[in-house]
Amino acid sequence: MTQPKPNPAQSVRLMNVGKNYGAVCAVSGIDISIEPGQFVTLLGPSGCGKSTTLNMIAGLEMPSEGRIMIGDRDVTAVKPADRDIAMVFQSYALYPHMTLYENIAFPMRSRRRRTPEPEVNRKVLSAAKMLGLESMLDRFPRQISGGQRQRVALGRAMVRTPTVYLLDEPLSNLDQQLRVQMRSELKDIHQRLGATMLYVTHDQSEAMTLSDLVVVMSNGRIEQVGSPRELYNNPANLFVARFLGEPGMNILDGVVENGRLRGADFDFALPEVAANAGDRISAGIRPEDLQRDPRDNPAIRGIVRTVEYLGSRSLVRVGVGERTITAFLPPSDDIPAGAKIGLSPSDPDKMRFFQTDSGGSLHHPQKTSG
Ligand code: ADP
Ligand code: MG
Repeated sequence: MTQPKPNPAQSVRLMNVGKNYGAVCAVSGIDISIEPGQFVTLLGPSGCGKSTTLNMIAGLEMPSEGRIMIGDRDVTAVKPADRDIAMVFQSYALYPHMTLYENIAFPMRSRRRRTPEPEVNRKVLSAAKMLGLESMLDRFPRQISGGQRQRVALGRAMVRTPTVYLLDEPLSNLDQQLRVQMRSELKDIHQRLGATMLYVTHDQSEAMTLSDLVVVMSNGRIEQVGSPRELYNNPANLFVARFLGEPGMNILDGVVENGRLRGADFDFALPEVAANAGDRISAGIRPEDLQRDPRDNPAIRGIVRTVEYLGSRSLVRVGVGERTITAFLPPSDDIPAGAKIGLSPSDPDKMRFFQTDSGGSLHHPQKTSG
């Protein structure tokens, strides 16, 4: 028996896409280029324009400007039903009176599609197999767990064999443990399907673990596009530096004097990239790149505020001048709250430097504003 071929994964391109709701600018200047089969995440705080962007790709919203391509096709003005995409939402309403089988089969039985029943059956079983739902297809939604319901919603998208999957915070209704489990299942499903997936989340750890490429957004604009590694190790600006990581990068705003960065309770030599870049520089250092420094003149001087013992390490919050910074220290370091502590970077090359005023990284080519 020859099986109908699944639709090939497609590329997606957004070119200078913007959306206004009356006087409200939801997003603007969005340029994204997604290769076929990539897992790409739109990441940013609530209200930054992730859903608006995804809805425009789905065709649920019309862009106010710019163009959207799926494969070689300009779909900017194409109806959602003619775009060959499938969307999974946070609130994935399953039909309570239908079995899981009927729920998954539903999109194929719509008036528009009218898929022949043998094909419906084949596709439902194949999706159920991939999602580990085979043994429960005759159950009703109320008889399964939240995670299983989310898998049914995914199955309903899969049977449409779309060229692009769009997922808007699909895991955010699940409890933490289930979220982590579904996250790795989703990654596995993506690998097996080889599909193009565009995923929206405000959760940076989801974005980091799932994605080939992450698009960091804030205030309706793109802050940076890159692999999780690139974003983590070389954030383009202070927003990305603070947003990625748990907790985010520590930022010390200081004044440059004689090649050193100075501020309340810190003082250290600047590398070449930062020494001549202006009077006000912000230094960034990740919590895991700090170590205790018992010398008289550590780079950073502070007072221990709290210590969270995490087993493999401790998360120590340290008051430095007016700010609080965080450091991951060995769990064997038993440090009482209120103690004085000296800290310095374990590897100065891992520090990142930013223009305090613009927030732009000194390690990235300077962008012309616009
Ligand atoms: P996110 O998904 O990142 O939380 P959204 O894309 O939903 O953000 O929203 C982006 C911005 O656009 C927000 O400021 C939001 O209030 C606004 N917005 C979204 N939809 C509408 C709408 N239908 N009418 C007016 N403003 C909207
Ligand atoms: Mg949203």
